Amino acid sequence: MRESLQHKKRIVVKIGTSSLIYPNGNINLSGIDELAFVLTDLQNQGKEIILVSSGAIGVGMNKLNLKERPKEIPEQQAVAAVGQSELMTIYNQRFQTYSQQTAQLLLTRDIIEFPQSRENVCNTLEQLIAMGIIPIINENDTVAVDELDHLTKFGDNDQLSAIVSQLTHADLLIVLSDIDGFYSANPVSDPSAILYDEINKITPTLLSQATGKGSPYGTGGMTSKLKAAQRILSSQGQMILANGKHPKIIFDVLAGNQIGTYFFEIEEDNR
Ligand code: ADP
Repeated sequence: MRESLQHKKRIVVKIGTSSLIYPNGNINLSGIDELAFVLTDLQNQGKEIILVSSGAIGVGMNKLNLKERPKEIPEQQAVAAVGQSELMTIYNQRFQTYSQQTAQLLLTRDIIEFPQSRENVCNTLEQLIAMGIIPIINENDTVAVDELDHLTKFGDNDQLSAIVSQLTHADLLIVLSDIDGFYSANPVSDPSAILYDEINKITPTLLSQATGKGSPYGTGGMTSKLKAAQRILSSQGQMILANGKHPKIIFDVLAGNQIGTYFFEIEEDNR
């Protein structure tokens, strides 16, 4: 089954904050540089790449020299606003090294709630892809709200990356986290946990094995990654969850090597 991975053409890559920021709060420039190199090389091979990147608050905290994540929402939004532009500056610099153009898209849930917004975003993405530009997507933290009558948040970037994959009919979503894949328990607290090689259905048992975020910079933890996988499987898509410490791992994933956890539906005929 993994052999088919080398033929995936349209690929959404989601990178978590823990892969962009060192535990001491500094920016992981070599990781970001490696990511830019890998994604550009894949683009040069003729693949179509979309990047969903977290990290705005982490980068903002670094820039503003904040040791603790702000608790109030206006503060978080302000720090994210500082961090988002800084993060894009870093991405632009790194991608420029490889002569790869990028574009920034800041989205809210409107893209699934309002057909007109959805159409506009899809058209923009298709146009960028046709122009050979790598879209870099994040939630629009400044305007996204979570009120009963007006829900415009995605929840987290795992969900956003799954939604973007669905909207663009991507062949594969690669979620890069700070862990090798999905385990039978959180390996940080349970050393006997076993890595799942592949998962074909998100069951209540699997959901019960997933717990929260792993690092202070992490967001949704494994529960949100499983929910993203559920969304992907519901639309016959495929997802790989792998460790983003060395983004070159993406080459190995696409070569079909046994890396991370591979989420795919088994077709009826093969059951
Ligand atoms: P990211 O910033 O990459 O999105 P998160 O911190 O949100 O990362 O999620 C990854 C963390 O989820 C891991 O570091 C791990 O501590 C935790 N986790 C909880 N349950 C599991 C599990 N069953 N398998 C693997 N990791 C798990």
